[in-house]
Amino acid sequence: MKSMKYDPIAICTWGFVSANAAAGKALASGMTALDAAIVGVAVEEEDIRNTTVGKGGAPDREGNVTLDASVMDQYGNCGAVVCVENYTNVAALAKKVMTETPHVMLAGEGAQEFAEKQGFKKEELFTENSKKEYREWLKTAEYKPIINIENHDTIGMICRDGNGDISGACTTSGLSYKMKGRVGDSPIIGAGLFIDNEVGGAAATGMGEEIMKSVGSFLIVELMRNGMSPQDACEEAVMRTIRKNPGFKDFQVAYVAMNKKGETGSYCIHKGFAMMEYRDGVNSRIDTASYLKD
Ligand code: ASP
Repeated sequence: MKSMKYDPIAICTWGFVSANAAAGKALASGMTALDAAIVGVAVEEEDIRNTTVGKGGAPDREGNVTLDASVMDQYGNCGAVVCVENYTNVAALAKKVMTETPHVMLAGEGAQEFAEKQGFKKEELFTENSKKEYREWLKTAEYKPIINIENHDTIGMICRDGNGDISGACTTSGLSYKMKGRVGDSPIIGAGLFIDNEVGGAAATGMGEEIMKSVGSFLIVELMRNGMSPQDACEEAVMRTIRKNPGFKDFQVAYVAMNKKGETGSYCIHKGFAMMEYRDGVNSRIDTASYLKD
């Protein structure tokens, strides 16, 4: 590991071992927090076995695979893309929106044309496996949110690099069999992801509609700014949703957070959620405490 002022740390939602390890390795080699987070989440975007992120992600009800992503850096710059078809690395694309355009968010066709111009590879995201599962789903076409899909879902990642700077990325195919055009929390700055380099960062996974209603990641960073630990801040953000929505047993909401000191925390409604944490060169899985115990 290069000698660094600060120990690099990477955390991410769910048990995405390889993605978090890739980010940790990138940080240890001296990469910035933003680029390391993008390298990390790309592992899941490119893994076709993962049906909730990137290529191989489950489609909407009409069979379109549409991806959402956001990134935010240590200067408070951010970029996002929504409803992107045929491009896998949407977190990297969100960074391009941030660095190469005067805008924060591009949607659908505009985002795809921009991806093409930026040299991103166009490819089919609807894999044989997702098609098979979709055909099964069509038999009943019943839409209900699935809690803890195969124990992995959206990947939201927060990294601290050797300079002590914090940045993050969040990327998803959204809720499986969502309505055409539906966009969740992941590309919404403040909901799926928020960074303030003076304070820390947070990322979300679960029912995007609920996370958006409480602007959950922004809330966690603000709670940390006011002195809460990352753990307490994640718990309070989950409690806001629980207190406001009596239907909370029917969906998952989960957060991960890191503060400027490198302390981390995570919390969720339903058990089964985990956070990965890379620290001191070791990548560990942390089973997150949940509000509901079974
Ligand atoms: N938060 C994502 C969304 O609502 C999905 C998930 O993390 O399960 O699009």
